[in-house]
Amino acid sequence: MMLPAGRTRECDRRIAIHEAGHGLMAQRMGMWVEIVSADPDDDRRDGYCQYDILLAHDEVERHCHWRRCVIAYAGAAAESIFYGGDPDSILFDRRDDLCMVTKIRETVNLPSAEWLEFRNKARSEALFRTVRREVEIVADSLQECRKLSGDQLRQLLPTLSQVASASPAQSAWLCLRRQGPL
Ligand SMILES: [Zn+2]
Repeated sequence: MMLPAGRTRECDRRIAIHEAGHGLMAQRMGMWVEIVSADPDDDRRDGYCQYDILLAHDEVERHCHWRRCVIAYAGAAAESIFYGGDPDSILFDRRDDLCMVTKIRETVNLPSAEWLEFRNKARSEALFRTVRREVEIVADSLQECRKLSGDQLRQLLPTLSQVASASPAQSAWLCLRRQGPL
């Protein structure tokens, strides 16, 4: 495995965990994931996750913003599973994600109640800790292959969904996905 210049294996692991969080959440939120990378991009981000929105006819733009917000938060939340700490504090050190979350929340005036509910779920670990294994498997693949195409991620996920199908987290994920337009 070739690590990017100046990156330790421990640091690389954490980046892979972070990006796996984005990728998994994007997938769960019904986005069309194009690529997840544990390698830096031209903007010198440590890693990245690119996805497209698949809009159903009855979906409004705000709902899409809400999902983008959650996906941006998911990197920090995934880190908190493996390294401890409050996802909010971790997010504070992940400037790109923090900017994204802040910008979206301001743009659409995301209702605080929904946002707080999501954050509390993340904080109480009910949402993320029980999908630990999923994050781990995606992070392993990311470290091995450096980049995962959307197809590769989707190939991983059917099995992963079964792993978590009986868990409370699965219900939480599904609950988030089903949430109607805000
Ligand atoms: Zn991120």
